[in-house]
Amino acid sequence: MTSDLECIFCKIIEKKIPAAVIYEDPYVISFLDINPRFKGHALVIPKVHVSTLDELGDEALAHLFVVVKHVAKNLKETLGADGYNIISNNGSVAGQVVPHLHIHVVPRYADEKKGIGFEATFPVDEEAKNKLHEIAEKAKIKHEIKPAFRKDDKADTSEKEEKKDGKEENKEALPYESEYFEDNGVPKFR
Ligand code: 5GP
Ligand code: ZN
Repeated sequence: MTSDLECIFCKIIEKKIPAAVIYEDPYVISFLDINPRFKGHALVIPKVHVSTLDELGDEALAHLFVVVKHVAKNLKETLGADGYNIISNNGSVAGQVVPHLHIHVVPRYADEKKGIGFEATFPVDEEAKNKLHEIAEKAKIKHEIKPAFRKDDKADTSEKEEKKDGKEENKEALPYESEYFEDNGVPKFR
């Protein structure tokens, strides 16, 4: 796994500094934030050192968010959280302090005094509000986005061919076993 010697989160991954770990697998680790904003405030990070979300491969990112879901669900079940905020600051301009991609899972409790939501942090930008369609036109994604999971055998073959060609294997790629299929029109995985 790629790591950065100076990075505090890489040091946590390598067990050079301690952390209150709540989940770990070969690709992802989740531990409690040293300065919890609410009880159980967790961070979920990839084990590969990338600074921001857009730098991570699709499969690794898909897995990261699957873990985020499990962490959130677990915080509800174990600590009695009534809801949660999923936050990720990307880039110093967005308030990112630790330059290793991390997703904050912030449990929220019904009886808490601070009912802080999106509005408190990001008040509405009226100018942007008046130009929604103009901005959407500029921001539109014009390329196809392929699912991070395998849909059929064809996807499998192309992957194997790439490896045969001697191209470097994508170290972020995960050995996804699940295959997508539709059961009476309902998307499922096996
Ligand atoms: P950011 O502002 O970059 O999105 O958030 C970084 C978070 O990492 C902060 O909430 C901060 O409390 C947390 N943090 C910084 N250093 C450490 C550390 O050494 N251990 C743990 N567990 N959390 C840390
Ligand atoms: Zn790192």
